[in-house]
Amino acid sequence: MGDETRGDARRRLPGVDRLLGHPTLAGPLAEHGRELALDAVREVLAEARAAAADGRAAVPAADALAAAAAARLAALARGTLAAAINATGVIIHTNLGRAPLSDAARRAMDAVAAGYSNLEYDLAAGERGSRYIHADALLRRLTGAEAALVVNNNAGAVFLVLSALARGREVVISRGQLVEIGGGFRIPDVLRQSGAQLVEVGTTNRTHLRDYRDAIGPNTALLLRVHSSNFKQIGFTAEVALADMVALGREHGVPVVDDLGSGSLLDTARFGISPEPVVQESIAAGADLVTFSGDKLLGGPQAGLIVGRAALIASLRQHPLTRALRVDKSTLAALQATLLHYLRGEAETAIPVWRMLAAPLDALAARAGNYAAHLRAAGIPATVVAAASTVGGGSLPGETVPTRAVALTTDRPDALAAALRAGQPPVIARIADDRLLLDPRTVAPEEDAALLAAVVAAWR
Ligand SMILES: *Cc1c(COP(=O)(O)O)cnc(C)c1O
Repeated sequence: MGDETRGDARRRLPGVDRLLGHPTLAGPLAEHGRELALDAVREVLAEARAAAADGRAAVPAADALAAAAAARLAALARGTLAAAINATGVIIHTNLGRAPLSDAARRAMDAVAAGYSNLEYDLAAGERGSRYIHADALLRRLTGAEAALVVNNNAGAVFLVLSALARGREVVISRGQLVEIGGGFRIPDVLRQSGAQLVEVGTTNRTHLRDYRDAIGPNTALLLRVHSSNFKQIGFTAEVALADMVALGREHGVPVVDDLGSGSLLDTARFGISPEPVVQESIAAGADLVTFSGDKLLGGPQAGLIVGRAALIASLRQHPLTRALRVDKSTLAALQATLLHYLRGEAETAIPVWRMLAAPLDALAARAGNYAAHLRAAGIPATVVAAASTVGGGSLPGETVPTRAVALTTDRPDALAAALRAGQPPVIARIADDRLLLDPRTVAPEEDAALLAAVVAAWR
């Protein structure tokens, strides 16, 4: 194609105003407004112009351009963050937003989001109060700790504790616990950033109480224990029990900090998986501070929870970093509602992560059977298979719970997975043995119809 013809091709494209006035765009324009519509139209025209200039493509008809602009406008108006269906069977999926919230937690967020609240207002006194009282009493009651503090996330909680209590001083930690959590959070780096000096003791696989004892000196600020959340050591290994670290710390007047990562308020062994450290047990063993996440096994909003000695919590509250890591009203509202589920003894039924973990195999088999029947009726080769769900979120590595999933047999499982991700709502599935698996465990029953419609649409 010569330059002249390309110029002609570009001239055959409709103008911005003409395309904006196309009947296909009337509805979307009225819904989303002229500014967004104009952006969509300009982008679509720029692409068509570039394609025509390269001679890559013919000039599309106005109808096709209008349809493309309407699709572009819908995508712009949706934004980039949206709900998705998790059919992976990974319960605490960090990439998919970790813990889904309970109905009560969502209602509590909505109630404080819609208007004003007593977030930092003492209603009895009629004067300024503290946002940190809201979860404090609940956390004390649940964990047995003297005091509690809630910050933005557990990474922030660990950083705050080290900055406030160990800057310019030494923190003793076992070499087996210098872990990387993921997302760039490495314990040695966090220690360095906080201004604390790392004193490594023991070896990768074995650390003894005498190793800690030998390392304690006049400049020791803390003994730190970090739960190896996302990996497991087997074989010739030794770790020091928390209670022994506490006894040693007391002897030398050095506080012991226990970073549990997920932490749990319930005994995970009840669900047929190996025990994840229980927060109450760390407090009972005498840990001076315990840190854990709000959105791992707790099943609440993203938050970092710090519980322990009142005097230490008081000094954390006064540290300037606390202001930088503070949580907002909707987080506190959701956390409060989530903690109340535990106090009422209804965590297993009310909190989604526990409900998913506790889902009986026969119920999962029945749902997988329904999925398969529905999909087969739509001409899709679907069978129910035995599979394994995982806890995820850097909790309980290697631990699986038996499940029943639907397997879709296709020549190109990758392409089907991509089509599912591109759908509305996006569906995230798992590929195993060249089949696409849909695990009902992490799909809320209310999402079943949307999931099946998305699979049928993606298959075509
Ligand atoms: C997950 C984890 C963290 C980080 O917690 P976030 O809530 O993700 O910030 C820190 N320490 C351990 C041991 C963890 O498992």
